[in-house]
Amino acid sequence: MKVLKFGGTSVGKPERMHSVAQLISDAEPKIVVLSAVSGTTNALVDIAAKLTKGDTSAAEAAIEQLFTPYAAFVEQLVTTSDAKAKGHAIVKKHEDIIRSYVNASGFGDKETRLFLAQGELISTQLFQTYLEEKGYNSVLLPALEFMKTDADSEPMLGYIEEKLKEQLEIHPGKHLYITQGYICLNHQGEIDNLKRGGSDYTGTLIGAALRLEEIQIWTDIDGMHNNDPRIVKRTYPIPELSFDEAAELAYFGAKILHPTCIRPAHIRNVPVRLLNTMQPEQRGTVISTKSTDRDVTAVAAKDNITAITVKSTRMLNAYGFLRRIFEVFEKYKTSVDMITTSEVAVSLTIDDDKNLVKIIAELNDFAVTEVDKDQTIICIVGNFSKDRIGASKRLFDALEQIPVRMISYGGSAHNISVLVKTEDKNRALNEINERVFFASGVLS
Ligand code: ADP
Ligand code: ASP
Ligand code: MG
Repeated sequence: MKVLKFGGTSVGKPERMHSVAQLISDAEPKIVVLSAVSGTTNALVDIAAKLTKGDTSAAEAAIEQLFTPYAAFVEQLVTTSDAKAKGHAIVKKHEDIIRSYVNASGFGDKETRLFLAQGELISTQLFQTYLEEKGYNSVLLPALEFMKTDADSEPMLGYIEEKLKEQLEIHPGKHLYITQGYICLNHQGEIDNLKRGGSDYTGTLIGAALRLEEIQIWTDIDGMHNNDPRIVKRTYPIPELSFDEAAELAYFGAKILHPTCIRPAHIRNVPVRLLNTMQPEQRGTVISTKSTDRDVTAVAAKDNITAITVKSTRMLNAYGFLRRIFEVFEKYKTSVDMITTSEVAVSLTIDDDKNLVKIIAELNDFAVTEVDKDQTIICIVGNFSKDRIGASKRLFDALEQIPVRMISYGGSAHNISVLVKTEDKNRALNEINERVFFASGVLS
């Protein structure tokens, strides 16, 4: 059995849903994970934000704008009057849930999470309605019955495995299961989600939980490219990546993959294939344990980074300094991405600045701090083992006109990270593309 995840653009139009149905029409057993119709989750975020602010009339207008196009979507998706009635009823049910909160008092986080779940609930039911009309022997698997996170918001792989197996056993004789990406229950049993882009994570968690043959992530591009195609013109797909390389690229901003979705696949050694719904004949990218021997593989960039420099006031023994710093980050469950040190100071970066004020206040008890916001980590993934030379020179030549705030090299053999101001990111990625990836003349 395989798991196939289709992203927002892959189910973004009725004709796209028809193509997805085609792609899954063979008899091979599969679990199909769908995202919300593209634009829906963004709209739901926006509606929830308006209600949180108490801006009722703006929220009502946004609800109207989100749901109006679904009527035409249903009309073009299915043909029989029964299926159309069913489709409209699905949309209405979820629109009514949203509308029932418009005048409710105390709209907050919990309600927002409930709103964000509606997109995947709608897309999967509409798709199932189409499959039924076409005579597919498919069944809906409710993600909320098996997808769960713990008190640290980490998916519970053992629980997912157990509950998913139970769900599959409810439907003997079926070989095509449709489920929602992104949504889950949290440790309090409330509706929650796996963070933006989380349908990829649902796909890899299912593949890992059931130790499936392969995880396929179908999107709107032919695999992982060497650089961000939204920013850089001349990029190319990478046929093979190791789990480590893919995990690093995803974590450091390659939007094609959710930041932590490679982890479960890696743990249980299930290969991940990235494929293009619009061009299914393209080979895409395969992610597996196979290591590759390239100098440089790809570059990715992660925005919204805060850099913190912590200077010792020399009142503390040097050997206690790092421990005290990291205890503060641990206390606030804030993970640190980059670190560089000098004799009297440490610079580090975080991407979650929710507790920044408290963290800085505690650090200031024993050190002097300096904070820089709006930073971007540029992460170059490749083979930088000790005996290799050349790649770092090409990288720093490429960055000669760009101010660099931090450099991290040697933490692992397959990653060099630099921290730049976000305003310099596009220039940096373009320079790196020309001078690191195309410099050798091998690629042109
Ligand atoms: P989906 O809705 O299918 O999950 P996403 O928008 O989340 O799709 O991810 C696909 C997009 O990721 C591509 O259209 C592309 O613009 C962007 N992207 C950013 N970096 C990369 C990269 N290194 N390789 C491929 N795509 C990338
Ligand atoms: N619909 C969710 C989002 O837009 C999850 C996903 O598309 O992966 O973030
Ligand atoms: Mg995505």
